Amino acid sequence: MINPAELELLQQALATLAKGFEKLPEFTPAFDADAASDVLQLVAERMQDNYPYYHPQYAGQMLKPPHPVARIAYAMSLWVNPNNHALDGGKASSALEKECIVELGRMYGWDAPLGHLTGGGTMANLEALWVAGRRHPGKRVIASQQAHYTHSRISDVLGMPFSAVPVGDRGRMDLAATEAMLEAGDVGTVVATIGNTGLGAVDRLEEILELADKYDARVHADAAYGGYFGLASELRDETRAAYDSLPEVDSIVVDPHKHGLQPYGCGCVLFKNPDDGRFYKHDSPFTYFSSAELHLGEISLECSRPGAAAVALWATQQMFPLETRGQLAEWLDSGLLAAQEFWQRLTNSDYYQPLMRPELDIVVYAVNAANAKQASDRARRVFSLAAENELHLAMIELPVDLVQAFLPELEADAKTMTCLRSVLMKPEHRTWIDKIMTILEDCAARVSG
Ligand SMILES: *Cc1c(COP(=O)(O)O)cnc(C)c1O
Repeated sequence: MINPAELELLQQALATLAKGFEKLPEFTPAFDADAASDVLQLVAERMQDNYPYYHPQYAGQMLKPPHPVARIAYAMSLWVNPNNHALDGGKASSALEKECIVELGRMYGWDAPLGHLTGGGTMANLEALWVAGRRHPGKRVIASQQAHYTHSRISDVLGMPFSAVPVGDRGRMDLAATEAMLEAGDVGTVVATIGNTGLGAVDRLEEILELADKYDARVHADAAYGGYFGLASELRDETRAAYDSLPEVDSIVVDPHKHGLQPYGCGCVLFKNPDDGRFYKHDSPFTYFSSAELHLGEISLECSRPGAAAVALWATQQMFPLETRGQLAEWLDSGLLAAQEFWQRLTNSDYYQPLMRPELDIVVYAVNAANAKQASDRARRVFSLAAENELHLAMIELPVDLVQAFLPELEADAKTMTCLRSVLMKPEHRTWIDKIMTILEDCAARVSG
């Protein structure tokens, strides 16, 4: 789990950091190392009670450890503890954040976007919808039924009306239903999900942009999970088309803490039109005195933010530039191929039926049974039994008619059905498919008995 080289690199980085402060009179804050040692042993033991997110046999939720370079850069910066609200609190790390934003913007073909890092995708989406509401006051927000639940909740927080658009068999927003809602005339913003969290389905952005243009609505792309996959080479044509249309949207949310190899606390919101920044205007009486240069707090709803997140992201983007055919793209491709192989293996299995062919690296699968209730029960039992065998999966509750598109013989004796879900987001997952399938088949044989 732990590579000792990481600790050595952290020490070296800290030694270089300390050199920058050598002109000051010597001062090292004291602390009781013995007392801290006891507490740290205690907390390390408590932390053993986690799923093994770093291991390929964790094939459940969207969770993985950050890349070591991000972890070390983040840890190193904690000795400074920069605050990227204002340049007074995070001078160097604010500069790093602005450079990261330029690179992230370029990934979407934007040369000078307005943007900043956030605590995560939720805060980033909140800012995007808040600006959207300023541009279209009183108007409705619409997003797919499979969009992240955060959109309906955020709309509620912002006092904006919200409606969910039904999805088709592939898990994407239905275009006819989208148009019908736009026709009603009260829609200001369409949220397109570029990789939904449950199914990994990518909304058809090209067509959504055309519709939004026709009805004068704004388009926000929630690419919190899927935002990096435009770098990959293994996307199918339809999925690729959505990514190729991303430069046309008004705002984008991407989570570096999902596929960008970062520790939690790193989301990002980008606006194509820098003029969107004027909505953030405020007059803080106590910050922003150190320079006339942009303080990130002037374009962010959150005030204090960890500069460490920018430091970690900058280090990662140095080592793994956001380019097609780079190492990051190769890892994303590995996840895409792992998902496609896993889907194929499940298709060939007697015990499982995968749903839609994966567009990204998420596979959703049902346990075969006569009816929805039995299938749900079996999925829950496979989930528990697999965990006992150190294979960790996730579950998803889906409308039964969505499942029936793939299991036409299934009797629908319930409105929803529990399926299994695996996000194959670690590059190593591809070489673990055999092992994962062996455990899955064994568990299914036992619960189907
Ligand atoms: C994860 C996710 C969110 C929420 O982001 P957090 O970083 O968890 O706050 C929003 N939308 C999508 C599509 C996501 O995958």
